[in-house]
Amino acid sequence: MGSKDNKMKELGYERQNFWKTSSDKEKKAAFKFADEYKEFLSECKTVRETVEFSIKALEKGKFQELDPNNKKGDKLYKIYRQKNVIAAVIGKRPIAEGLNIIAPHIDTPRVDLKQNPLYEDSLTQLGMLRTHYYGGIKKYQWMSIPLALHGVIIKKDGEVLHISIGENDDEPVFVMPDLLPHLAADQYAQKVGDAVKASHMNVIFNSIPYVDEKQKEAIKLNALMILNERYGITESDFLSAELELVPAGKARDAGIDASLVAGYGHDDRVCSYTSLAAILELKPENIDKTAVIFFTDKEEVGSEGNTGARSAQFLDFIADLLKANGEPYDSYTLRKAMMNSQIISADVNAAINPNFPSVHEKDNAVIMGHGVSLTKYTGARGKSGSNDANAEFVAKMIRLFNEEKVNWQMGSLGAVDVGGGGTIAKFLAVYGAEVIDCGTGVVGMHAPWELISKADLYSTFKAYTSFLKKG
Ligand code: MN
Ligand code: MN
Repeated sequence: MGSKDNKMKELGYERQNFWKTSSDKEKKAAFKFADEYKEFLSECKTVRETVEFSIKALEKGKFQELDPNNKKGDKLYKIYRQKNVIAAVIGKRPIAEGLNIIAPHIDTPRVDLKQNPLYEDSLTQLGMLRTHYYGGIKKYQWMSIPLALHGVIIKKDGEVLHISIGENDDEPVFVMPDLLPHLAADQYAQKVGDAVKASHMNVIFNSIPYVDEKQKEAIKLNALMILNERYGITESDFLSAELELVPAGKARDAGIDASLVAGYGHDDRVCSYTSLAAILELKPENIDKTAVIFFTDKEEVGSEGNTGARSAQFLDFIADLLKANGEPYDSYTLRKAMMNSQIISADVNAAINPNFPSVHEKDNAVIMGHGVSLTKYTGARGKSGSNDANAEFVAKMIRLFNEEKVNWQMGSLGAVDVGGGGTIAKFLAVYGAEVIDCGTGVVGMHAPWELISKADLYSTFKAYTSFLKKG
């Protein structure tokens, strides 16, 4: 007592290393949770696949589809356009008194096929697919790596074909070949952002021509013949399809101690999985406020469109929930319910990358292994474009996490003026609810393989569970 160290412990803020401060039981639980998460991440590479996974998990957890005219229980969900999942566990207090909401996004940066993608490169005699990237990617990272093709094709009779090629060992993968270093003198002289252009991002689709007769574009024709034989489609079926190239392969342990997870799309499926796991833990009789998870789409492109967070689907769900629960569902009540709500904008944050530490200011940045990150504001320059959570709400969350023994840290996105970014927090704040950003630290965000710590994954789950139960 009285030594300088103890005084600092008493008076200073210091985040805790989960591995140093947690019990063996907690550490084991973190590893076990990560095993289940890896399966989810390996299975869910697209928005629609994440929705399918969520429906199965919710149904297994005895959630039922929300019908506003017929309340079927206290655990309800609804799917919007195959791209949003909203699920609720109804608490003891009226919904109009406010909800506890966790909102992650389930879209991830990727390389979409163009609507008319297939062409024949006459010089190299290759069938090729043109692409259009989605979200903020460093294009060069996606070249010369194995990619899998996922998505849906809507056939002429309306049948929906679900495509997944390249995840199993016996399936082919697809590659957008980068330039060899030997002949890259001009490329090396370019700025990194220009070294690979969108026009270089074409994927090799096939190389065997159709040989039965003297056809023009025999390579392209053979590709179409394979597609027709396998899926019963013709070239025009591409025009409406949603086909996406994503990194092929399963999520893996990383590090000699297997303490990290390397995988595609931690941003933001880590917050999606942990919030789904959290709501599955709830019992209606044990919670006061109604708990909701809202999986949004299109976050990576500005939350636009009728499946993005700026759309009306969330209010539509709450209106239906009020009605199903036998409460008034007029616009006044709906506004009150939202105004009284607390929302976690559940998104990842940039953890310090040991190879590039200078873009962060260490005392205010996230460090892997030190728990879930609470972020008061995001944005760029002078906090432009940020939701700035109110001090009272931030303090309330800190109190809750301390009481519930959640390993947490305060984290902002990067040093001031080096860049910036946003989340859906500001789009949810328009309802007047309290909103804070809270999620997992990621190293190498938006790269084909991102890294997170199992400690932070587990801490995120614990944070979300305590918020839905007691927030
Ligand atoms: Mn994100
Ligand atoms: Mn992102």
